[in-house]
Amino acid sequence: MRFRSTCILAATVFHTYFDGILAINSTALQTCTQLQTTLGSDIVQFPNGPEYLNSSANAYSFFNAEILATCIVLPRQASHVQIAMAAIFKNKVHYAVRAGGHSGMTGWNAVQDGILFFFSHMKSISYDDKKDTITLQPGIRWGEAVQQLQPFGVTPMGGRLPDVGTGLLLGGGYSYLSRQHGFACDAFIELDVVLVNGELVTATATNEHADLFRALKGGANRFGIVTRYEVQAIHASSLNADWFGGLVLYPNSSVEAILAATHKFTTTVTDPNATFDMVFVNTVNGSDVVGTHGLTLLYHGSALPPGIFDDFLAIPAINNQLGPITYLTALNLSGPGNDRGSGAKMGAGAVSGGVEEYTNAYRAWNDFTTDPAVKPTLAWSILAFTPISKFQISVGRARGSNSFDPPLVNYAAIDFQANAIPGLREWSPQVEAARQTVFKRMPPSPGLPLYMNESDQKQKVFATYGRFEELKRTYAKYDPTRFNVRFTDGPPGL
Ligand SMILES: Cc1cc2nc3c(=O)[nH]c(=O)nc-3n(C[C@H](O)[C@H](O)[C@H](O)COP(=O)(O)OP(=O)(O)OC[C@H]3O[C@@H](n4cnc5c(N)ncnc54)[C@H](O)[C@@H]3O)c2cc1C
Repeated sequence: MRFRSTCILAATVFHTYFDGILAINSTALQTCTQLQTTLGSDIVQFPNGPEYLNSSANAYSFFNAEILATCIVLPRQASHVQIAMAAIFKNKVHYAVRAGGHSGMTGWNAVQDGILFFFSHMKSISYDDKKDTITLQPGIRWGEAVQQLQPFGVTPMGGRLPDVGTGLLLGGGYSYLSRQHGFACDAFIELDVVLVNGELVTATATNEHADLFRALKGGANRFGIVTRYEVQAIHASSLNADWFGGLVLYPNSSVEAILAATHKFTTTVTDPNATFDMVFVNTVNGSDVVGTHGLTLLYHGSALPPGIFDDFLAIPAINNQLGPITYLTALNLSGPGNDRGSGAKMGAGAVSGGVEEYTNAYRAWNDFTTDPAVKPTLAWSILAFTPISKFQISVGRARGSNSFDPPLVNYAAIDFQANAIPGLREWSPQVEAARQTVFKRMPPSPGLPLYMNESDQKQKVFATYGRFEELKRTYAKYDPTRFNVRFTDGPPGL
């Protein structure tokens, strides 16, 4: 079955490529050919290259895996990105960048008739115990990063599922460590960035590129291609089971109580060692929609302190296996997140009000999943709540702030993700309209930023940022010809 689909994909790639060759953007083709001569056929691959197919198919969303680049650049070092970017800039070619490939925005990590950078060969990570910092290349995934540094007792702040990649950092990043140490991007120390014209700069909080440094904390793919991240090491992951928690599964009948507990924890709990990820899941099974909802509940310590999780633990559950675990085990509680083959789209919400705002978002989402126009092509959908605390926001501010710069309030970030039946190439206009209705029905509470990495491309996320005006000025400074906005797909508004 797996082999058969690979053959079909290969045939499709060659068919599309050679049939379309005359129609293909000849500038992209010429640039790819020049770059292959300069960098070699290992680094610049056409569809007949040995890694092209797997690299294309590596996008988490099938909608992105289906978009085929003229060639793929597989850099081994920053200078390869510089050379390719300089040619792309000179020749005015469309391009896209992919790290872990988990973007839910169609076209943000894939490009048709253009050049795709894929960092599958830049995956190194190291810990400097004198500086207490971690240096990582963009191709590493969070599971690999945590596993490799476990013996040193440190971890970078990153994703909560192992297969997710470093693009997470550029959108902000929600980690299980965030309530104590800020958004994942708040841990940035130094970034190497290839600007649109191919120039390599190093940005820190205090050097001449301090404006770029802050812009990259939330600026997504708009401010250059990051080829090296140096981040603060967090001493919260070791070979010892120094976390306590697990996965609790709830039946649909517990929804109301879960929403109340989610709201109460988000608005009242101040202990930065306590965190959770509440994920409502509706799965389409024929004409039925089955709801089974998962809470990942975690405490950085040897036991759960009394009180904090009591409301969650009092709710009738299907199973509840809590105990001492390592941070790496915590990352695997909801599965690896490495499934492929289903088109995925996301959308963001953010609520700071009463429990009715949580219930309102749940209802909007639940109505979407049970809509007769949606069900036939929907495989499953999630609505996830992440608690963001005042303390977490203040930690980020103390480290120089980020570009989304939320107001100092406790709030819940909401991720609405819809996954299509395997093989579907795009949602119908009816499903798209139903998705947009969900966003309209759960507008963010006034003043809250939406989360870039879990947004829909029609949501104007930059406009919700606390430092939107500053972000626009920084963008104008580093990309005066607006090349990125014109030649790569990404968040609107700059
Ligand atoms: C299963 C799953 C689990 C998730 N879990 C979490 C979570 O726990 N916490 C959280 O905060 N988010 C989470 N997300 C959302 C996640 O942050 C985004 O999907 C993010 O895009 C992942 O980064 P990536 O490197 O895997 O994806 P990619 O699609 O490769 O990259 C995301 C974006 O960043 C750009 N980009 C990537 N690398 C670079 C670079 N070096 N320079 C410039 N631009 C770059 C890409 O062009 C793309 O637009 C999850 C998503 C999924 C699907």
